[in-house]
Amino acid sequence: MVDYIVVGAGPAGCVVAARLSEDPGTTVLLVEAGGSERGFSTSMPAALPFVYQRKRIQWGYLAGPEPHLDGRTIDEKAGRVVGGSSTINAMIYNRGNPMDYDGWAETR
Ligand SMILES: Cc1cc2nc3c(=O)[nH]c(=O)nc-3n(C[C@H](O)[C@H](O)[C@H](O)COP(=O)(O)OP(=O)(O)OC[C@H]3O[C@@H](n4cnc5c(N)ncnc54)[C@H](O)[C@@H]3O)c2cc1C
Repeated sequence: MVDYIVVGAGPAGCVVAARLSEDPGTTVLLVEAGGSERGFSTSMPAALPFVYQRKRIQWGYLAGPEPHLDGRTIDEKAGRVVGGSSTINAMIYNRGNPMDYDGWAETR
């Protein structure tokens, strides 16, 4: 028996599981549909062309035929692997502007 089952080891699931398991008296089961993956293409920022060839670590979703693209379908990328889409993403980040956060806090 476990206290919590967290489904999906993407960023959100990993954070939730990590926070819950900070309490040594709490047992947590983290379930992930994919396997684990550590390698060149998933460690290097912006290595998307290489990562996208790794079908095993993706869900392989396709959009429906797009009327404005002459009926073509588009890949909808989503990671199926420990780390979720953060394992297949571009590793681009923006540092937030503190004044934005202050402004949002004032408008609450
Ligand atoms: C191609 C791409 C590029 C991106 N580039 C950037 C970037 O450069 N910078 C940035 O900040 N963000 C980027 N993102 C966005 C970022 O990766 C996502 O916002 C983030 O991964 C979302 O985390 P999540 O935990 O909500 O979901 P996900 O990362 O989608 O994780 C969900 C997890 O749940 C698992 N799962 C789903 N259903 C089940 C089930 N039934 N049973 C078990 N497991 C299940 C999945 O396999 C997956 O591992 C990118 C995303 C993509 C797809």
